[in-house]
This record gives sequence, C-alpha cells and structure tokens, in this order.
Amino acid sequence: TVQAEKRGFQAEVKQLLHLMIHSLYSNREIFLRELVSNASDACDKLRFEALDKAELFESDSELKIRVAFDKASRTITISDNGIGMSRDDAIAHLGTIAKSGTKEFFSKLSGDKQQDANLIGQFGVGFYSAFIVADKVTVLTRRAGLAADAGVKWECSMAGDEAGEYTVEPYTKAIRGTDIILHLRDGEDDLLSGWKLRSILRKYSDHIIQPILMRKEEWNQEKAENILSDEEETVNQANALWTRAKNDISDDDYKAFYKHISHDYEDPLAWSHARVEGRHEYTQLLYIPKRAPFDLWDRNTQHGLKLYVRRVFIMDEAEKLLPHYLRFVRGIVDSADLPLNVSREILQESKDVDTIRGGCSKKVLGLLEDLAENRKEDYTEFWGQFGRVLKEGLGEDHANKDKIAGLLRFASTHLDSPEESVSLKDYIGRMKEGQEKIYYVTAESFNAAKNSPHLEVFRKKGIEVLLLADRIDEWAVSYLTEFDGKEVVSVAKGGLDLGKLEDEEEKKKVSELAEEFKPLVEKIQASLGDKVKEVRVTNRLTDSPACLVVDEHDMGANLARMLKAAGQ
Ligand code: ADP
Ligand code: MG
Repeated sequence: TVQAEKRGFQAEVKQLLHLMIHSLYSNREIFLRELVSNASDACDKLRFEALDKAELFESDSELKIRVAFDKASRTITISDNGIGMSRDDAIAHLGTIAKSGTKEFFSKLSGDKQQDANLIGQFGVGFYSAFIVADKVTVLTRRAGLAADAGVKWECSMAGDEAGEYTVEPYTKAIRGTDIILHLRDGEDDLLSGWKLRSILRKYSDHIIQPILMRKEEWNQEKAENILSDEEETVNQANALWTRAKNDISDDDYKAFYKHISHDYEDPLAWSHARVEGRHEYTQLLYIPKRAPFDLWDRNTQHGLKLYVRRVFIMDEAEKLLPHYLRFVRGIVDSADLPLNVSREILQESKDVDTIRGGCSKKVLGLLEDLAENRKEDYTEFWGQFGRVLKEGLGEDHANKDKIAGLLRFASTHLDSPEESVSLKDYIGRMKEGQEKIYYVTAESFNAAKNSPHLEVFRKKGIEVLLLADRIDEWAVSYLTEFDGKEVVSVAKGGLDLGKLEDEEEKKKVSELAEEFKPLVEKIQASLGDKVKEVRVTNRLTDSPACLVVDEHDMGANLARMLKAAGQ
C-alpha cells in the first residue's frame, strides 16, 4: 500500500488558520455556511461541466448535499456529490491560498481581533473555517469522471491551534464528490444535535439551490432521546432565491444569499432585486457591499456578476455584465435568452449581454441615487469606500455620465475641510447671483488645493470652488465639461472669465494696468523665452505676485505631472 504523504502548508495558510480560530470564534457557526457553500459550488461546477459531458453524472444526476453527525465519534460530516477533487486539486486548493493579493492582505492584519475579523471576513474564510470547531479535518474526495480508486484522503490535525502539515493518500471512493469530516474540539459537543445543526442551516444556508438532506429523528421513549431514523428530509428551501416572489423573501434571506455569493462576512449595504421583461428577459439581484474588498485595485483580479441561464450556473465573475467602474457590485444575473453553452468569448460579442449590462448599470446607479436621497449616512459610507471607483465612470460610461456626476461628492471652499460631502446640486444651489459656471481646482493634496493662489479672487468674491486632490480627479473631470447646463471649469486654465461676476470697473482697471505694465511684461516674456507661452497681467490674484496657468485647451498641470511621473 502507498504511504500517506506529509506536506507542509503555505506560510499564509498557517497564519490564516491561527488568526481565524482566535478572531472568529465568537462566530463559530459560519463553518457550516462555508462548507455547505463549497458543496453547493461543487455541485454547480459539475452541472456546468456536464452540459457537454453528460457521462460525468455517472448515472446519478440528482445533486445533493448531506449533513450528518455522530455522537459516538464526535464528528460532523458534510457530503456532496458534486465535482470532487483530484489529488492535485486537493493539494492546490486545500494547502495554499491561491487568491491574488494574499501577501498584501496579510501585511494589513493588525493583531486587533475585531479589525482582523473584519478583514478576514472580506478575504473569504472558506474551507479553513472548519478549524474553528474541529481540531482534525478529514477530506475524502474523488473527482467526477475519474475511477473509484483515484480518490484522495486529505487529513490535517492541529495541536492546540497550530497546524504545520497535512497528509494526502490514495483512497477508493465509490460515489464521486466530497465528504468533509470534522472531528470536533473539546467543548463543541452542543453541535452534535440535529436541532442545532438544522437551525444553523436554516439561518445561513436556506437559499442554497441543492437540497440539504439530514436524517429524520424520532423520539424514543425508552432511551428518552431522539433516535436517528433511516429516512432523510430536506432542511432548506432548496430553490433559487432570485426566482422566488419578492414578498416571500425576508431581509435575512437576502443577506444570507449575499454572504454566500460574495464570501463577505458583513451584511450588504443595499440591494436591488428585479425581473426584467421585454426583448430580453432576465432576473437581476445586485448588491452593494459595505466595504471595499482588499483587491479592489488589483488589476489581475476578476470582478463581476455570477451568470446563470435558466437557473443553471454558467460562470463566476462574468465581467461583461457590468462596466469596470461598477466592479464593486456583487450579485447574479439569470438570463432566459442566452444559450446554455455560452462562453466568455460569446459574451464578449453578444448584443443580449450589452442590453443586460445597460440594465444592470441603470439599476445600480438608481440604487445609489436612492441611497444618496434617502439614506444619507449610508451614502457617505458608500462614497468613502467606493467614490474613487465611481469617478472612473465619467470616462467609461458616457450614457450615464449625468447620473454619475450627480452622485459625485467633493470637498470645496464652502466647508474648507477635506471631507467630501458637496454634490454638484448643492454647489449649484449656492451659486452667486450672476455666476454661470462651476469652478474647481486640482492639486496633489487637499492642502495644496485649499491654499492654491488660483483661489484668491474667488475667495475675495465669495465664490465656492471645488477642491480636487485625488489622483484620478483631473482625468475624471476632463470628461465632465458640464452639469445641469452649467460649464464645469478649472480656475487654473485660460484667461479667467468670471462673466457677469466681474464688474466693469475692475475690467477697466485691468486693461489700464496691462497698458501700464506692458514694458515689464515684455521684459519678463523675453527673459523666460520658450519656457512660457504668454505673460499676462491678471486680476485673479490678490496676495500672490504671480501664478502659472495653462491654456484653455491644454492638459492640466497636475495631469501633466502625473504623465511625466509615469514616464510619458
Ligand atoms: P473559495 O470557495 O472561495 O474558492 P474555499 O477556501 O472555501 O475558497 O475553498 C477552496 C477551494 O477548495 C475551492 O475553490 C474548491 O476548489 C475546493 N473545494 C472546497 N470544498 C470543496 C468541495 N466540497 N468539493 C470540491 N472542491 C472543493
Ligand atoms: Mg468557499
């Protein structure tokens, strides 16, 4: 016989295990949610692969999840007849963390329990959460399509909360799929109860599409306890949540479903569930998370919605279903029209998908408008987490530019604080008599913006100016030429035209001064030579002697600096 092979965990896994046990213990029930969620994913994957390879079903196409417990051996077992794992799969998936950005993630952990618990939640606790309640975990698995003796037994024991190694060995498994056997830690015996497990399953896993089966129990008078019967029953609703009528779905159902699809550990901030009819028929269930995921800015991470076609899971992270700037949205789209064998390549080309993407974008922006209007505090929270991403939409989504512009929040000279709370609508409401334009200044930091010499004349006249200090602001506002019929202009560009705000007397004075200082201006122009385009006398300054401005149609100075820094 082949010996069990010992293998070491990736360093990050050890760290994660240790942290998880300590920081998530107060939430120990999530282990069941995670393992059932994996079982359900495994069934989805099999169903999808079997679309064009029916033999993978091995004449057993009823996908199921089973949860069982055994008081004598103190174990809980979660089984599925999904896709299963080969030996290589088990080593790759249960011994390492393959997610991109893992290193960065670990560098953010602080040692503070609550804070780390939140971070770990965002990262997705997954399979390893088994170790919150178990000190030994045995996985018996066989991949669909492989021979019975190509199964694997994976096992890991922990002493205290340290796990250094796990073993893998060959195993013969007649039924494809995976059994996860949890050997409970001391003190976890209350989980060895049908009542307890059912209540956890109903709380966290009611929405799982596959039936979750448990053995029925019968009261035994003689022994004065419940005895397991041979009959099984389904303990969850076992239908796709999004196909149910909205009235039949509770907020808790929506939240549990969100956690299942997003791997988030917190509740979502908001959601929208709608069935769209018409030329294309589809259901959308879209969520806005409370917190930005750790990999929001990681270029290699895929983002997007889960795609289903007539309730069959097709793919994760279908990035074509939403524009890139809405990559923080989680959720599902279930199309009634796309072909079941749709691939990423087909999605790229599909007109149906364009329609769906348009519909989803509108829904998300509508949901945000509703938050901004009716749940202001939540919107502030949203803006703090995702505002920078939303700004990308100005350049990316022309059709919805006005909606996006309405959702933007800025710092401005009105409060002179870095807090971004001013909307363009607020700004317009405060515009001075005779003011026709929306003014902004961009700089490398809030302080630089606030103290910009370009603001002097505006401060003197009491005109509000938006203070933009984000790296992407200058790029983003270059797409925002107007809002609500008002031109949006930089205070640092071109000849400052204050329109009706300028009084005639002042204009006269400037032209007189220009005349008077003509020789000086010519001198300065001559000595600066090619370095400047033009030297002018201005009324835009009150305290500073001089400032640089760029021509109306030229690149802003900040953007020029950015491009230079990027080596362009
Ligand atoms: P995630 O579910 O976010 O991918 P997990 O830690 O929960 O992360 O699981 C890690 C991986 O282990 C899964 O992606 C999958 O490949 C594999 N896996 C876990 N449980 C099962 C299972 N029951 N059947 C098949 N594969 C599984
Ligand atoms: Mg998982």
